[in-house]
Amino acid sequence: KADGRGRFCIATPEMNDMFRLRHEIERDLRRAVAEGGQFQVLYQPIFDAEGGMVAAEALVRWTHPVRGVLGPESFIGIAEDTGLIEPIGLWVLDQACVLAATSGLPKISVNVSPIQLRRAGFAEEVLARLAAHRLPGHRLELEVTEKRALDTGSETLSNFDRLRAAGVSIALDDFATGQSLLRYVRDYQIDTIKIDRSFVARLGSGDGTDQIVRAILDLGRAMGIEVTAEGVENAAQREALLGMGCHVFQGFLLGRPMDALRLAALSARHRPS
Ligand code: C2E
Ligand code: CA
Ligand code: CA
Ligand code: CA
Repeated sequence: KADGRGRFCIATPEMNDMFRLRHEIERDLRRAVAEGGQFQVLYQPIFDAEGGMVAAEALVRWTHPVRGVLGPESFIGIAEDTGLIEPIGLWVLDQACVLAATSGLPKISVNVSPIQLRRAGFAEEVLARLAAHRLPGHRLELEVTEKRALDTGSETLSNFDRLRAAGVSIALDDFATGQSLLRYVRDYQIDTIKIDRSFVARLGSGDGTDQIVRAILDLGRAMGIEVTAEGVENAAQREALLGMGCHVFQGFLLGRPMDALRLAALSARHRPS
């Protein structure tokens, strides 16, 4: 603040605007969570090499009363800082369970924040929802991003343990963009690695990307970890990945995020063999 006596603080008009915007989003987000009806979940299909839809990833959207449809990048961070990610995350999970229970989709993939994972009782909440929808654990995968530091505390670990004991699988999202990927692979029992789309985008560019992707695929094979390529946008990328031994693909080439009805219909036409 400019009037703070004796305090050294610089606030430019741009910063004031940023703080105001953030404050406003936070207020509206609280209201949206309290009142409901403003969030929507889209689903992006995930295919195997034979064209079977093996899973779909739940991706949240927020229709702000004034600003229109907002992607997760513009509110998940604020939701994490305020704890609102907990009710939002459980709501997304609930929606995803409805889709899994009412369609033959083999597996539904849901993003979870490290904030959710570090709370005691998170695993039980997830398992209670699965039970309410009569879904076995293996129909759910939880995606944990590597971009934000994962809590290595005991609550996170025991949540992982209880979820995995119930058959829920764990995916390491945005792989190779974080700081401690190999430690996570060693310390947590990971079922799936998702190669970040920044790598897929640079395949064949001769800058070492191909070698890194091959190494990730080798790591997966050696440790019995499934590897999914994210952000597959064209056939050349899919071919290159297939040639390297990658068998699971997600990206605009195969399908954009879509609503539950369309996803269910698409899934019915692409049952994995
Ligand atoms: P993510 O988990 O890496 O999800 C994939 C993102 O890449 C999605 O963006 C998706 O629309 C986009 N995408 C998929 N295929 C392609 C492609 O071929 N090319 C390009 N350029 N982009 C592609 P979206 O929906 O904006 O989500 C952004 C991030 O927000 C997600 O990244 C995820 O980390 C987070 N997120 C989304 N939903 C949730 C949620 O319910 N809970 C939490 N905690 N995070 C969420
Ligand atoms: Ca994800
Ligand atoms: Ca990702
Ligand atoms: Ca495995």
